[in-house]
Amino acid sequence: MSAIHELSVKALQQALQTQQLSARQVTEHFLARARNHGASLAHLASDMAPQSPSPSTPGSKASCGAFLSMNEAHSLKAADESDRRIQAGQARALEGVPIAHKDIFVTQDFPTTAGSKILAGYRSPFNATVVSRLQSAGMVSLGKLNCDEFAMGSANENSAFGVVHNPWDHTRIAGGSSGGSAAAVAMGLTPAATGTDTGGSIRQPAAFCGITGIKPTYGRASRYGMIAYASSLDQAGPMARSAEDCASLLSVLCGPDIERDSTSLDIPSADFTLGLNQDLQGLRIGLPKEFFAKGLSDDVRDSVRAALDALVRLGAQLVDIELPKTELSIPVYYVLAPAEASSNLSRFDGVKFGFRAQGYKDLDEMYLKTRSEGFGAEVQRRIMVGAYVLSHGYYDAYYVQAQKIRRMISDDFQRAFSQCDVIAGPVAPTVAWKLGEKSSDPLSNYLADIFTLPASLAGLPGMSVPCGFGEGHMPVGLQLIGNYLKESQLLNVAHRYQGVSDWHTQLPGSAA
Ligand code: GLN
Repeated sequence: MSAIHELSVKALQQALQTQQLSARQVTEHFLARARNHGASLAHLASDMAPQSPSPSTPGSKASCGAFLSMNEAHSLKAADESDRRIQAGQARALEGVPIAHKDIFVTQDFPTTAGSKILAGYRSPFNATVVSRLQSAGMVSLGKLNCDEFAMGSANENSAFGVVHNPWDHTRIAGGSSGGSAAAVAMGLTPAATGTDTGGSIRQPAAFCGITGIKPTYGRASRYGMIAYASSLDQAGPMARSAEDCASLLSVLCGPDIERDSTSLDIPSADFTLGLNQDLQGLRIGLPKEFFAKGLSDDVRDSVRAALDALVRLGAQLVDIELPKTELSIPVYYVLAPAEASSNLSRFDGVKFGFRAQGYKDLDEMYLKTRSEGFGAEVQRRIMVGAYVLSHGYYDAYYVQAQKIRRMISDDFQRAFSQCDVIAGPVAPTVAWKLGEKSSDPLSNYLADIFTLPASLAGLPGMSVPCGFGEGHMPVGLQLIGNYLKESQLLNVAHRYQGVSDWHTQLPGSAA
């Protein structure tokens, strides 16, 4: 058998159920790896929330900075319970398989920070629905994973608790905002992780770290307990090595939660593994011309093209389509997401959660100091942009206008889906860039989201599948976008592609 951390979710599931491995053994193995290769700061591996975050540290080659907190006693207790159930013949679907969660999901057993100093010291009294569903399926939580502060970012350089290093090249970004999730899976610190995608945060870091990730249709996964960034866009999803592993996790993670999340779709989840291995004969794959236009780097284009050729060999046909408002998705998203964020983040005021600044004279000053000291620069920028576009006099010019164009973007997708079954293209215009390269220029970060934003604005399911290596031997991701509720079809296309390619099985040197 390969080393435990090289096993897929499926292989672990089988090894656990047949008692070739015990859940305790598996959990101890991953905990040790997370401790040795995942921590970035001194406060990690502790049961306590960080009280005074340190600035970013240049990670050593051995550590990618993916984990923000662990609670080993808790993880081992859950593993022992899994072993007991397996021995008693009461194993649940994913019994004993480890998982780690993006630190944007609230958890009872671990601190929750959303990558922000403003939540330092916060402990949630309940678990996010996504977390409790995975736990109820028998998964063992290893800890919480680094992310951009309140999921705002494309590089995981906006976390108050340090950057995440790309496991393929530690001088590069892991992508964002679910950078910790992507790096942890790529490095074999956990076989799977949760992520959230508001404008690409599952797909883009998955692409940059060479793993697989899927964002389901908006409303399929509950947002209850997922700290809100832009509520009309936020969506949870799994990140793992393969489409098959994502399918088993997605089956558990989706499903109605209408009592707790008003935007939850009242549609049952499905066993997405059952839809894998369908024939691709006659499948029409739409290629939006705007996704292959100038701005796309040659190395990414070549890898994506080669993947499309492989899909053609499997029986698919390629159709040219248009998504004419693609470019507008950037200004539309960067008006709407900050608008929603400015409202969502008003709850962090030093009264109800986490951090409160010291030395204030009155209530107003307490708010001011807490929010000035507690929020990082990018979060403050977005709150200001959001408050501006919602303010009297600008609301119609910006917010309402952006909503109208958002609708047009959705309509363009529906026109495209009359010509094709699935849409394919790159996830990002380039491979992962160097740490620091764009951190002082927010606009250049925003522009890199061009291919992931359209599906987010339309609420469509989207996925990232490893499809090669580009500049600097960095992973490239193929993006697949499906129509509403077509997760099964996306996973099938990805799985069939992974049956004839081995990009998703390759591991970075740091995962040894
Ligand atoms: N990069 C985008 C942003 O900064 C998307 C983030 C996300 O999907 N959470 O908002």
